[in-house]
Amino acid sequence: MNLNLCLDAVPGFLGFFDLSIAPPLLFYAYIPIFILCVVFGLFILKKDKSSTLSKYFLGINLSFATWIFLILFQWVGAYLETVHLAWQLLIIPELSIFLFSILFTYTFLFKKDAPNIYKYFIGLIFIGVSIILPTTLNIEAFDLAFCEGVVGYIWPTVYVFELICLALIVLIAIERVLKSKEPGEKFKTFIFTFGLIFFLGIFWASNYFGELTQTYEINLIGPIGMVLFLGIISYVIMKFKTFNTKLFSTQILVFVLWFLVAALLFIQRISYIKIVVIFTLALVGIIGFELVKSVKREIEQREKIEKLAADLEKANAKLRELDQLKSEFLSFASHQLRAPLTAIDGYSSMLLQGDFGKMPEKVRDSVQVIDTSSKSLIKIVNEFLDVSRIQQGRMKYDMSDFDSEKLAEEVVAELKPNVEKKGLTFSFNSEKGKNYIVNGDSGKIKQVIGNIVDNSIKYTPKGGIKVHVERKSDKILITVADTGIGIDTADILKLFSEFGRTKDAHKTNVSGTGLGLYVAKQMVEAQKGRVWVESPGKGKGSTFFIELTAKN
Ligand code: ADP
Repeated sequence: MNLNLCLDAVPGFLGFFDLSIAPPLLFYAYIPIFILCVVFGLFILKKDKSSTLSKYFLGINLSFATWIFLILFQWVGAYLETVHLAWQLLIIPELSIFLFSILFTYTFLFKKDAPNIYKYFIGLIFIGVSIILPTTLNIEAFDLAFCEGVVGYIWPTVYVFELICLALIVLIAIERVLKSKEPGEKFKTFIFTFGLIFFLGIFWASNYFGELTQTYEINLIGPIGMVLFLGIISYVIMKFKTFNTKLFSTQILVFVLWFLVAALLFIQRISYIKIVVIFTLALVGIIGFELVKSVKREIEQREKIEKLAADLEKANAKLRELDQLKSEFLSFASHQLRAPLTAIDGYSSMLLQGDFGKMPEKVRDSVQVIDTSSKSLIKIVNEFLDVSRIQQGRMKYDMSDFDSEKLAEEVVAELKPNVEKKGLTFSFNSEKGKNYIVNGDSGKIKQVIGNIVDNSIKYTPKGGIKVHVERKSDKILITVADTGIGIDTADILKLFSEFGRTKDAHKTNVSGTGLGLYVAKQMVEAQKGRVWVESPGKGKGSTFFIELTAKN
């Protein structure tokens, strides 16, 4: 394709541009802002992909970046055809900036996507513009002498239409203010609308007056409004945590600064440098101030967290020390209690068995009470000793192979008299012909099953208890189901923790400690098994499960 060169143009940069014909402020005003728009839009989209708001924001930014790109082409394009094309396409990003701004405003202020009617309206505008795009209504002619397009009749309408868009944005903001109830909402709406209108207003005015006076240098002012707009958006992000991101991107600001400074290199006349330096200085001032403030805040927060962490560490050490003391005391006290208790228990049993001769009936009743009480005290002391052994890591497990089904049956047989005394039914079932061998501490597993069955006896006022043993692939499941007081769902988890009891437990069993199931869980888990309970609720019975790993 043979392209025609603009008058005086010498294609240099990338073969399509002649940078020497650019006005001195062109690169300074456009390139950093172009990059700022793209980076900022993408940054917000990356941080908050799912939101419609960030998509509309990206829409504004990309439209603006495209607009800048086309304007740059108009200034420094070296070939007639490409410059002409840039003139012709300009109407699309020019309108998109305003239309995306309407959608953005609505979504930002009302926290929901704009109604469809807005979108149909925007769709119609674009269909109209696409039809007009290649016609003389858009670009009437091309001035070869200045390498410029001559705008067509549609452009005055475009400027009026843009003003209508501005009015619509103001109306949306007013509606928001009238409907707002939260205290910060009005301020937020005001600051946001001010930023957007300022940007679109400057943009509109610089285009309109540039066009009217045919002094296209005026257009260079337009993009500066964009910087303010992005600044305000950043402020809104920080202050109101819009876009789900608290982070005001320092990187982006620093990035822009680099470009602003680098753009100084493109300024050809020394007198312009002053303006540019003042502008850059102002920006450096603001950014520097904000940066120092945020670094200071961060350091303060870190110091606070570090102090908290140190305090927490101290408190933890103290707690560990107290816990250790508690376990030691528990162990000591239990040991001291056990010897006299064993003596009381032994002698009361001997008395009851008649080892010291026949007792009068009255004395016998009292000795029976002593015997029962000493036995339950011994049980409690043993539980305390188990807890302190577990917590100090001193619990020993005597591992050997044993038949878990036989063990469960043994427990059932031993406890049968207690069940019958209470008038409950009792049954034991198992699948015959299966291998129930387990490698573990049979004494401890017996204690666990015994505890769970004993609990069922204690917490079942009427009905009965069923014990079942089955093999499930490499697991053995021992189930103890009762028709007792049941357990509230909210209580289920706490039963297996230290001193965990339900609110109603004391009604049925006054002397319980809430340690039995804790000890059971620790013992079973130490042997690679599991214990848990299921209950349909209060008064509806409970089923306890002990799962052990079978030896194959
Ligand atoms: P204790 O029975 O000494 O209170 P456990 O640790 O053996 O302590 O049991 C903890 C709690 O679990 C009991 O206090 C009781 O609230 C509840 N619980 C245990 N077994 C049953 C059961 N079969 N039915 C209803 N609640 C039970």
